[in-house]
Amino acid sequence: MDEKLLEQLKQSIKGDVVTDEQTLTTFSHDASLFEVKPQVVVYPKDEADVVSLVKFVDENKKEYPHLSLTGRSAGTDMGGGSINESIIVAFGKYFNHPPVITGDVATAEPGLFYRDFEVETLKHNLLFASYPASRGLCAMGGIVNNNSGGEKSMEYGKTERFIKKIQVVLSDGSVCELKALNKEALHKKFELKTREGDIYRKLYKLIDDNYELLQKAKPTVSKNSAGYFLWNVWDPEKNIFDLTKLWVGAQGTLGLMLKADFQLVPVKKHHAMQIIYMPDMTHLGDVVNEVIPLGPESFESYDDNTLMLALRYFPEFAKQLGIFGLIQSGLAFMPAFLGMLTGHLPKLILQVDFAGDDLEELKGKIATLKEKIKPLHLKTSTALDDQEKRYWLVRRESFNLLRNKIRNKHTAPFIDDFVIDPQKIAEVIPQITNILKKHPEFIFTVAGHVGDGNFHIIPLVDINNPKVRTAIPEIAKQVYDIIVSYHGSITGEHNDGLVRTPFLEKMYGEKIVALFKETKEIFDPENIFNPRKKVGGTLDYAMDHLRTNW
Ligand SMILES: Cc1cc2nc3c(=O)[nH]c(=O)nc-3n(C[C@H](O)[C@H](O)[C@H](O)COP(=O)(O)OP(=O)(O)OC[C@H]3O[C@@H](n4cnc5c(N)ncnc54)[C@H](O)[C@@H]3O)c2cc1C
Repeated sequence: MDEKLLEQLKQSIKGDVVTDEQTLTTFSHDASLFEVKPQVVVYPKDEADVVSLVKFVDENKKEYPHLSLTGRSAGTDMGGGSINESIIVAFGKYFNHPPVITGDVATAEPGLFYRDFEVETLKHNLLFASYPASRGLCAMGGIVNNNSGGEKSMEYGKTERFIKKIQVVLSDGSVCELKALNKEALHKKFELKTREGDIYRKLYKLIDDNYELLQKAKPTVSKNSAGYFLWNVWDPEKNIFDLTKLWVGAQGTLGLMLKADFQLVPVKKHHAMQIIYMPDMTHLGDVVNEVIPLGPESFESYDDNTLMLALRYFPEFAKQLGIFGLIQSGLAFMPAFLGMLTGHLPKLILQVDFAGDDLEELKGKIATLKEKIKPLHLKTSTALDDQEKRYWLVRRESFNLLRNKIRNKHTAPFIDDFVIDPQKIAEVIPQITNILKKHPEFIFTVAGHVGDGNFHIIPLVDINNPKVRTAIPEIAKQVYDIIVSYHGSITGEHNDGLVRTPFLEKMYGEKIVALFKETKEIFDPENIFNPRKKVGGTLDYAMDHLRTNW
């Protein structure tokens, strides 16, 4: 950024404007495969600063067309959503006050870590049910703007269901509040002679004109973070128009979020988990059929490769889990580890977790499940309440274990989050693993939210190996072809970012992608916010920005 412009930027806000090499390098990365160096990192102090930033870019955009603003909370995005070339607006430093909890709703700022938010909600015996597996690392801004989901999304659904209100800064620097509006309130918005009024008028027309098309485009799988969720905004039967449904998951491409209201749920007193060891995938569909009607809170899985990696990289795993975690997971997985020694490792481990206030009722569900799957002759074990923790360790920590530098190999999230009909898992997963098996440079594990048909395949690679770099886009194309042919979603939780925006047309087709472009133009005609995400991203740009070092 030229000196004059930088000086003007510094003058326009009270917060910090930083350009040192170390900061720029840190903010060149998130948890993705990519590297994009920003020109400036800005830590806004308050709402007025965020407004000034937007006005600063808006006023200078004609002379400096590449100026843009990319919101960032904790920077754990796996698809390159929180990195960009121009100005990064980092909310972690000042927008991190404790949440205000009123009844069962918490108001929180984007930079507040989820782990700190949860400490406060638990004091009220309340929980945000859609927390992601990165609960120890991520912040509230990323949860909203990625439409995050996690292990409890099977029962509760994703973030989109829990956001009551969002306060945002629009592309002309105006601040507005998004929430569900009845028809009368919507018509009042139509009368506003402001950017907000313009957005309501134009977007209502776009959605109304294309209502049938949009409803048909709505993914039928249980989870989706791909594209703009235009189909969820307007409910003509209830006469409700709700822009939070569009904003959640839009990755900060429509504006910047200042705060949001999160609906919380009561913490359940008891848990009962059934662990099922599958020797192969043959009966997976049958097990899924028996489990889902029993209404588990979560239904998770991981494969033999995950277990094998945990053993292969035992010293690293030990370091990460600590001695207590190690003993706990060792106890839980002794049968599986013995199975490895004798060559009888289960192909897939399933965790079915029931939650409620009546332990006897949960034990009843476990008994019913055991009875139903008895004819399949599968090995099982049961864990009640605190005993469960040891089983969760491998499921929750395996990705972090892989991510934290295992002997020169790094996690490569690029087919990391697809969703299919759970009934098709046994058919689809082998097709995908067969693609990966053709590339011995990719060590991979399969884990995921089996009940939602949402899988995380995150290979371990040497990113500097030229074979790896050329294979990444080829594998991605083949895998997403399969997912689309099964009417799945290319991302259930992690969102589009740089890595999946180029595949949105494959998933939704040309017409819907054209509506996404119109949506972006309605909110952000000057392309101020997080360019190349959701619209305008190309595979070439993404691949040109693959990391070269770690
Ligand atoms: C180990 C690990 C496990 C993970 N597991 C899950 C999982 O189970 N489920 C899941 O959904 N994700 C998961 N993720 C991905 C990621 O952690 C989550 O999506 C998380 O919610 C992102 O939060 P963040 O604060 O780090 O967001 P960031 O990376 O800071 O931002 C995410 C997106 O939101 C936008 N954004 C952030 N703040 C604002 C703002 N104030 N205004 C406008 N836009 C903004 C950014 O531009 C970016 O596009 C995982 C990541 C890791 C590393």
